Amino acid sequence: MLELRNVDARYGAFQALFGVSMQVQAGEAVAVIGANGAGKTTLLRAISGMIPVTGGEMTMEGVSIPSLAPHKIVETGIAHVPESRRLFPRLSVEDNLKMGAFIPAAREKAAERLDYVYGLFPRLKERRTQLAGTMSGGEQQMCAIGRALMSGPKLVLLDEPSMGLAPVIVQQVFELVRRIRSEGYTVLIVEQNVRQVMKIVDRAYLIEVGRVKASGPASELLDNDEIRRAYMGV
Ligand code: ATP
Repeated sequence: MLELRNVDARYGAFQALFGVSMQVQAGEAVAVIGANGAGKTTLLRAISGMIPVTGGEMTMEGVSIPSLAPHKIVETGIAHVPESRRLFPRLSVEDNLKMGAFIPAAREKAAERLDYVYGLFPRLKERRTQLAGTMSGGEQQMCAIGRALMSGPKLVLLDEPSMGLAPVIVQQVFELVRRIRSEGYTVLIVEQNVRQVMKIVDRAYLIEVGRVKASGPASELLDNDEIRRAYMGV
């Protein structure tokens, strides 16, 4: 579904990704793990067109995406749930969700999509008029995921959905990810919480200083001593 071949990305003069190659097949859940500053967020930003790709090739279902404007990338079926959720705190839950349906194809079906998201996450329906900024961290993450689903995506990019949440809420967020996966969405998830995320993905890529250092089935990476020492504290 998504394919990256030798992708470079930079912030001005600073190169953050070096020749990154990866694939995500339809229906898979794939994790991107690595230390702080490794380039995980940058990778998701490059895929969704928030920062320019300066080398290599990237395709979504065969369509080249680096030259597309971000909203056109959304139209290819990619939705990004950014780090720290980035909700509009002074807008209601429902208005935040509607913001996710900004591409024309989704706007036409916004009412239908809203019902679908409320069906999936009844808590959001209960809280539809509440200001998003007053919700709990876990609820805000649910709202951010719901907003991404409003565009009718095939592939959902999740950037550290467990960040800043209490352990019990972290469990609930991973459960949400499992749910959207069972709904048929393909998932690419960045997580620091390696032990937890490996339980819900098929495969993972380890990124170090902007490069893919290792990749493979989650079970295989969990057996890798170096990964266990560096990222799981064992
Ligand atoms: P974390 O888990 O800490 O968010 P990460 O793996 O997601 O880490 P990135 O945020 O992708 O890392 O950062 C990769 C590198 O790019 C870092 O060296 C970071 O300082 C740099 N970087 C990130 N954003 C910018 C920016 N807007 N301008 C310049 N450099 C940036």
